Amino acid sequence: MLQVFRAARVWDATGGSMLHDAAVVVEEGRISQVGPWSRITVPEQAEVRHFPEHTLLPGLIDCHVHVTGQSYGVSPLPVPEAKMALLAAHALGRALRAGVTTLRDLGSTFQCVFALKDAIAGGIIEGPRLLVAGAGICMTGGHGYNGLAIQADGADACRRLAREQLRQGADVIKLMASGGAATPRELPHESQLTVEEMRAAVEEAHKAGRPATAHALPTHSIVEAIEAGVDSIEHGTLLDDAAIEAMLKHDVTLVPTLSIADRMISHGAAVGLPSYTVDKARALLPGRVERVAQAYRAGVRIAFGTDAGAPFHPLGDVVHEMLLLHEAGLTPEQVLISATRTAAAAIRRQSELGTLEPGKIADLLVVRGNPLLDLRALADPVLVAKAGQIVEGAAVEPNAYLEQIKATLYAHI
Ligand SMILES: [Zn+2]
Repeated sequence: MLQVFRAARVWDATGGSMLHDAAVVVEEGRISQVGPWSRITVPEQAEVRHFPEHTLLPGLIDCHVHVTGQSYGVSPLPVPEAKMALLAAHALGRALRAGVTTLRDLGSTFQCVFALKDAIAGGIIEGPRLLVAGAGICMTGGHGYNGLAIQADGADACRRLAREQLRQGADVIKLMASGGAATPRELPHESQLTVEEMRAAVEEAHKAGRPATAHALPTHSIVEAIEAGVDSIEHGTLLDDAAIEAMLKHDVTLVPTLSIADRMISHGAAVGLPSYTVDKARALLPGRVERVAQAYRAGVRIAFGTDAGAPFHPLGDVVHEMLLLHEAGLTPEQVLISATRTAAAAIRRQSELGTLEPGKIADLLVVRGNPLLDLRALADPVLVAKAGQIVEGAAVEPNAYLEQIKATLYAHI
């Protein structure tokens, strides 16, 4: 199939300037030409779409989500796997329409994440291209044992668990290096997995050609995870100069996920998120934006991640995170680079995704206005294409489907 997308502006994420009255030509789901309209050769029989007031840019990549977070804050009861898969499939469809064409799931104890990934890749259900960690790995009682991770103690157990995730099709290995907000009886500044434990799992990831990433909030855990060989740090909320130095020295990417704490407080508390989580999230607010600013100014590479997935912070809820990164000193263009080119590199898909260039997969987003002037232009896309397959754009709102989710979850009570 031949498609031409012509727009008032095309931003290709390669670092060049915005193209005016430009177009992208797509052949069989891949980009074949990008450039000013005057220089485009329109193939015969091409389907031409023209967006005279709009900006066309690469589809967004969110490097940190939890697609099975659908009952989080809503149901205290264990949720049957099949129900969770259906709720996640619904949320994934909405995320695609919100402009996110690739998601990386960083931890679920539901095995349906692997099935969801394959069903999307196979074209059975609609959603962003999904990369998954499977279950995260945490110590006994560690961060996320209540839904995101499986507990393992000692290097051998961590190695075995990493191998198990890889056997099932994991694209990345997720390690819990410190405490966080969402698990009882843990504190964000506490160390959890040891260097030895993390190193064993990282080795298995790297042997399989996959990256490893660590949930790590305080500097000592960030430094330990880097010592163990991880490729990126998730959150880094309590980082300081020593953490920045380690990230720079070892070329480690930071995925700040600033919006999750805000969403826990603004939309999670109201629907029943446990108070221990909301209180810990609130305690993490002071200084967090400034610390990301400090890391960014020092030259740390920032990749985009929201930690979305719960009804109060739905998949595709990206603009709030973008505005917080902008507050941390990134220009709107740098924010968009973090969510396209840099994100593609963080998930090791830079040869196929992240920019609009000939040969790459045609993941496209059309928005009204100019997101380089105002990132809020991304909140309500007009059209989204994944590998050239078009869906109509639609905004997502926190808790918009809360009643439907509750009805689905509580029907078994
Ligand atoms: Zn997370």
